[in-house]
Amino acid sequence: MTGKHKNRCSFCGRTEEEVALMLTGMNGCICDDCVRQAEQMVRDNLGGDVHSKSSSDTSINLDELPKPRDIKAFLDQYVIGQDSAKRYLSVAVYNHYKRLAQPEDDGVEIEKSNIIMVGPTGTGKTLLARTIAKQLKVPFTIVDATIFTEAGYVGEDVESILTRLLQVADYDVTATERGIVFIDEIDKIARKQDNPSITRDVSGEGVQQGLLKLLEGSIVNVPPKGGRKHPDQDYIHVDTRNILFICGGAFDGIERKIAQRLNTHVVGYDSVQNQQRIDTKNLMKYIVPQDLKSFGLIPEIIGRLPVLTHLDPLDRDALRRILTEPKNSLVKQQIKLFAMDGIKLSFEDEALDYIVDKAIEYKLGARGLRSIMETIMIEAQYNAPSKKEKEFTITRQYAEEQITKSEKMKE
Ligand code: ADP
Repeated sequence: MTGKHKNRCSFCGRTEEEVALMLTGMNGCICDDCVRQAEQMVRDNLGGDVHSKSSSDTSINLDELPKPRDIKAFLDQYVIGQDSAKRYLSVAVYNHYKRLAQPEDDGVEIEKSNIIMVGPTGTGKTLLARTIAKQLKVPFTIVDATIFTEAGYVGEDVESILTRLLQVADYDVTATERGIVFIDEIDKIARKQDNPSITRDVSGEGVQQGLLKLLEGSIVNVPPKGGRKHPDQDYIHVDTRNILFICGGAFDGIERKIAQRLNTHVVGYDSVQNQQRIDTKNLMKYIVPQDLKSFGLIPEIIGRLPVLTHLDPLDRDALRRILTEPKNSLVKQQIKLFAMDGIKLSFEDEALDYIVDKAIEYKLGARGLRSIMETIMIEAQYNAPSKKEKEFTITRQYAEEQITKSEKMKE
């Protein structure tokens, strides 16, 4: 800095010797006191927004950030099981922050580690993404890959993913450029056959190509209101280099590809020796990028999603725990609803077992627990607030009666 001794604060006029810190701009200077005052004035005028919009996102202090173990512990409060996915996610998110905080001048660049989570529907992929979002200091959004189609067809352009992120960040581009996006149902844009077709595949490869641009990091023209691009529109330029993408999909049938690769059969004709080593009930845990290619994702996309993890199917035990253990479990929510009317609600263990049995019978997994619970509770929720009784217990018999009644009504 030249002419250092002559610098005076353009706001209060004090010299560099009289203040703790002087910042020099193009045509003037500002001292630390005036910066503080200015910040207070901005805060007074814009309210609390000022922090969430910029400063929290531009200064990432690794010491203050939750470590991977902390992130996992937080996920454990809401999501049952899925240890492997939780670990991968925790590390990837932590590394994402490290990437944002990395010094730029040492020649080593920490690369982005976009993630792909593969697992049956209703096993917690979206829940994991949502829960991690609660902990984040960066903008976060969830989009469904099925709404996108290749440019020129009906549907939304892939760029609209970034429109949503911009909206969440109140159109603060700097914050948006450090955000996290969860793209659900990524398997739905897989190429229909393994061989590239000559005819255009509207829902598949074209969308993957479009997505590639976002995943690999480039400056993208984003329509501020989303939807389709059109020539007269003003665009916002968003650099996706530092945006972390987490993709999720059920990849129905991918077990067959995995089995083929493992040279075994899902039904199990294989040699006894091989069967002992391979857990044929949960082939998903053996997934490798090559299987995603066999399923119809293009190699370039797979290359841009280097962290591949799986979710386990939920067994009876997991479903039972989901009912009661998560911080906002279905049982805790019901108890709270009744408590607000001054009623002490409780569930007998056998009633909870019955709910799990039904969820398994309906083959709805964890998603089914909620609708079964609602069906069982509707009558009590309707009557109890007007009654005098201050205690109510859900027994197995009561639960069965309610379900039978609703099944009869549907017949
Ligand atoms: P996916 O995205 O894998 O299809 P979701 O995350 O949307 O499934 O799960 C649907 C619902 O089922 C969640 O909102 C949650 O209530 C429940 N659920 C699913 N998996 C779990 C889990 N592992 N732990 C707790 N709740 C779960």
